[in-house]
Amino acid sequence: MGERVCRYCQHSFQPSKFQLAQAVCSDPDCQRRRRNDYHRRKIATDPVYQQVCQDSVRKWRAAHPGYWAQLREQNPARAERNRRDGRVGGRSRRAAISRRAASKSSAV
Ligand SMILES: [Zn+2]
Repeated sequence: MGERVCRYCQHSFQPSKFQLAQAVCSDPDCQRRRRNDYHRRKIATDPVYQQVCQDSVRKWRAAHPGYWAQLREQNPARAERNRRDGRVGGRSRRAAISRRAASKSSAV
């Protein structure tokens, strides 16, 4: 008794007695998705949380000066690819994908 169905993987699981409202199983993938969803919703609805997250990114950058420059130095090919493809998820990325698909079909 007391079994529940995970919101993400749809598998049934036994909720923890310490987390009576638990809606997600203990699978690491499901827990990661739960945390991501929580973080996204929290950022959209809680200006204080949003501020804290932005501050922590800024603090991390301040504590690791030159991190991105160093990364580019270590991965010149990757930096070059990022420059060429433009911002991830934008129009240019979709255009790059359709270009790739077009070249693939013409090669056959
Ligand atoms: Zn699950």
